[in-house]
Amino acid sequence: MGKGNGLGFGTLSIHGGQEADPSTGAVMPPIYQTSTYKQDVPGEHKGYAYSRSKNPTRTALEKSLASLEKGTHGLAFGSGLAAVDAVMKLLSPGDEIIAPNDLYGGTYRLFHSIFAKWGLVFHFTDLNDEDKVRALINDNTRMIWAETPTNPLLKLFDIRKLAAIKDEHNLTLVVDNTFATPYLQTPLELGADIVMHSVTKYLGGHSDLVLGALVLKDDDIAEKLYFIQKSSGAICGPMDCYLALRGIKTLHVRMQRHCENTEAVARFLISHPAVKKVYWPGFPGHGGHEIANKQMRGFGGMISFELKNDTVENAFTLLSSLTIFTLAESLGGVESLAGHPATMTHASIPREQRIASGLTDSLIRLSVGLEDAKDLIRDLDHALKATLE
Ligand SMILES: *Cc1c(COP(=O)(O)O)cnc(C)c1O
Repeated sequence: MGKGNGLGFGTLSIHGGQEADPSTGAVMPPIYQTSTYKQDVPGEHKGYAYSRSKNPTRTALEKSLASLEKGTHGLAFGSGLAAVDAVMKLLSPGDEIIAPNDLYGGTYRLFHSIFAKWGLVFHFTDLNDEDKVRALINDNTRMIWAETPTNPLLKLFDIRKLAAIKDEHNLTLVVDNTFATPYLQTPLELGADIVMHSVTKYLGGHSDLVLGALVLKDDDIAEKLYFIQKSSGAICGPMDCYLALRGIKTLHVRMQRHCENTEAVARFLISHPAVKKVYWPGFPGHGGHEIANKQMRGFGGMISFELKNDTVENAFTLLSSLTIFTLAESLGGVESLAGHPATMTHASIPREQRIASGLTDSLIRLSVGLEDAKDLIRDLDHALKATLE
């Protein structure tokens, strides 16, 4: 199905970059569970020599991802963080990177605890403040790293504005598109150079794999990334590539329902007497609402909210009263999950600093799944009432 120019998103989810298997006609890409490939004479093979460099099931996934993100090159890795790691290896000691101050915790840890040691210099700032971003740019600046919407406060950054800044200074703009997925937002079309994904989340969609990806259009950067992929070897296995491909075939249908259910839950929460504040970009009062309207095609499947009675104990009462939402890390699967950033994902941040950045003691993050919205709302209502007792 080639690059699929002009085809709708649903058609691309199912067919983008895919062809029936040339040797058997199999409609689904076979799981090529092989490390190596027969050569007729040394060095002559059918494009595949060793599976660290290339594997046909991985190729099928990489083509699918490239078609959905409107890129020409897709690269799949063993996890989202392995994909971030590959991007950092494009850089050299002394190079500087500008990143948001509410970056995904794992990405922050990789930057701060691993790559800073190897001489990369990171500046964390508010990417919506153009003056602050410009003030950080100097001769050593190479990259702007953005993530939008962010976790867990669902802040949004204007990708077009960041692309304009990076064009002026010849930088590389990378966007972590995990929360939005290409169904809601396509950063390459907004001027970004590289899109990064934790495929573990919505793209896989069934909480059954860990996988990461990069998509881009620039041939030179892509060649460097392919070299890093095979040299560092942080690849994913063929079974996981197959599961990701299987998940992607329903991405459009799932995202549509995630958005609908999330809107219903957000509207329920905001009117509940036990709730103080709801973070959902669909509300006009949300700081990122206008940016969302400009660069997204919906508001996504994530919500965070604060309780009126803002204590850790109260958050725990709520979480232990839920029966359909499961208390767990991660997001983007068919099942609804609830998490408590203060004691889970953001537990390592000192309390004062955490609260100053808006992550209050009772903040709860929901990944709204695909169950019936009325059941999710009933579950939350019951648990919220317990916090008022
Ligand atoms: C989960 C996540 C990652 C890391 O991906 P893994 O697949 O867990 O390695 C990066 N960015 C965001 C926004 C995430 O949610």
